[in-house]
Amino acid sequence: MNVEHDHGETNELICRKQGELIQNKGGRKPVQALREDTCRQLIREAIQSLKYSYSPYSGFKVGAALLTKDLKIYTGCNIENASYSPTSCAERTAFFKAVSEGKKDFQAIAIVGGKDGVLDDYCPPCGVCRQVMMEFCNPKSFFVILAKSEADYWIYTLEDLIPMGFGPDNLFQK
Ligand SMILES: [Zn+2]
Repeated sequence: MNVEHDHGETNELICRKQGELIQNKGGRKPVQALREDTCRQLIREAIQSLKYSYSPYSGFKVGAALLTKDLKIYTGCNIENASYSPTSCAERTAFFKAVSEGKKDFQAIAIVGGKDGVLDDYCPPCGVCRQVMMEFCNPKSFFVILAKSEADYWIYTLEDLIPMGFGPDNLFQK
């Protein structure tokens, strides 16, 4: 799926809550802005993915929508398993769908989730998913959108969520 608008226009820094959050951290400025309509579209796609959540054991439904740099959106849901450990999170489902189709450059992911699909709180990614994001994303410029609705969300950089994360640069640095 493609995003619906032309991204060439002015990049207007999005979020209410997000602006404060990022700029308050040591005066650091976001290296890349994400448009509000893009955020909303990602959140909408993540919410739509909740209906595919396979979560008969926990009843905790999660949906994700991952935006590539070439403006494609890959969605994912959590997929549980009777033997538990093969369970996959929504975020990794989205990443692996995208990577399996040749995409490796990503801008942002929106994540929503809650018991029985009720979005009464934000749903942060688990540690395993944060590590998968480290593999493919620049921690300073990849955005993670945690939403309760299209109008109620926070945006973090990946670095906010996994400070000093270990990634490919650690192995390739000279
Ligand atoms: Zn996860």
